Amino acid sequence: MTSPRGRFVLSTLLAVAVAASAALAQSAAPLSPVGLRAAALRDEALAGNRALEIVRSLTVEVGPRSAGSPGDAAAVAWALRTLGGMSFDRVWSEKVMVPHWVRGSAEGAILTPHPQTVVLVALGGSVATPAAGLEAPVVMVDSLEALDALDTGQVAGKLVFFNGRMARTRDGSGYGQAVAPRGRGPAAVAKKGGIGMLLRSVGTRLDRLPHTGATRYEEGVPRIPAAALSGPDADLLEAQVASGKPVKFRLLLTSEALAEAESANVLAEVRGRDEGGEIVLLACHLDSWDLGHGALDDGAGCAIVIEAARRIGELAQPPRRTIRILLAANEEFGLSGARAYATAHQDEIGRHAIAAEADMGAGKVYRFSTHVGADALTTMAEIGRLLSPLGVEMGAGNDASGGADLIPLVQARVPVADLDQDASTYFDHHHSANDTFDKIVPEELTQAVAAYVTFAYLAAELPGPFGPAPEVAPR
Ligand SMILES: [Zn+2]
Repeated sequence: MTSPRGRFVLSTLLAVAVAASAALAQSAAPLSPVGLRAAALRDEALAGNRALEIVRSLTVEVGPRSAGSPGDAAAVAWALRTLGGMSFDRVWSEKVMVPHWVRGSAEGAILTPHPQTVVLVALGGSVATPAAGLEAPVVMVDSLEALDALDTGQVAGKLVFFNGRMARTRDGSGYGQAVAPRGRGPAAVAKKGGIGMLLRSVGTRLDRLPHTGATRYEEGVPRIPAAALSGPDADLLEAQVASGKPVKFRLLLTSEALAEAESANVLAEVRGRDEGGEIVLLACHLDSWDLGHGALDDGAGCAIVIEAARRIGELAQPPRRTIRILLAANEEFGLSGARAYATAHQDEIGRHAIAAEADMGAGKVYRFSTHVGADALTTMAEIGRLLSPLGVEMGAGNDASGGADLIPLVQARVPVADLDQDASTYFDHHHSANDTFDKIVPEELTQAVAAYVTFAYLAAELPGPFGPAPEVAPR
């Protein structure tokens, strides 16, 4: 006998079976010549590629490369020399002025009730404390909203400790939810009379390495020093605050903002065979924070896009559209390179067929999402079909955001794609001294290159246009 519940399950199973066989029929349809070439590029890249070698060379020969530092200049030279030795038709740089902030030293200590030193780092852009350091009572909150709920009297003259924790997620969304106090905290604290800010590091691993990242000040609001504590040190401070006894803290930062410095976007192209001059843009950022070697953020991303484009440059027949790579200057501390690119290339923005940025570490690509004109969705599904043997699923919603360096292009309605990488462990090391070469899993990086080369080749060959993409609210 079939119960109503049983009938429901049966009909659901039937529907799933029908959908699955339809998908199977589609995936079994023969590939076009372009599809076959894309599949070959994908499988060859998966069998072996140079991305690991590229990121090793960047971390060994350059290492840390924060905006305006000697490492920044060395990275530009590295990129010109590395790309110059590859299969590109053109390699060049475009001058970008960048802010130049230097970290200096950082010291922190709990003075009462149970004196202990703690491990912390200045947030990027933080002002220094007075030379003797500052000593103040601590008030602990979990979020900007919790700070809002406090009276000025509860905050004035104090150090505010943001103790919110970041959730580990595959898509990295935990970062977006946790990072707000890092950027907006100092201004919010200063508006209530607070004199400094402490932050539980925005990261997912409980080692004693703090995670830095950019903070911001607001015009007309006092600029107060801001530092991030390692997870275990944040636990310690939390426990002392939770004891109910008054907690007093000493903070000393010697950070400094120097004059703007010259850096550069580095670009390279595989020139397309079509007259129209359409461009498929693959981006990454060349700068990194200063604490680690910038292997994951964003050495791996640059290695992925360089290697994907290089492989297409080796083909006997050039792709229909030009493939351009952009190694952007200063993403971390204000998107200088992204803005400079949009300004310098304003006249050809309309010729950008589609863009994607690799800036989520060295993990596997697990999802392909787009933000394109409605007429291009079928073509994007075709790209998704060629990506699926890599274990990449098709994202729904046509709501890809593009990377940070693509923001100006997205505002101009250039279509973008996200090749979402598994970020489950990325934020263990991101912006910390642990962002080093050994954290890369070679097989995962290899898969990401295979996904990017498949996407880039198909985006350069399949019929367009892919845009204009739907309008988005300003970010
Ligand atoms: Zn990055």
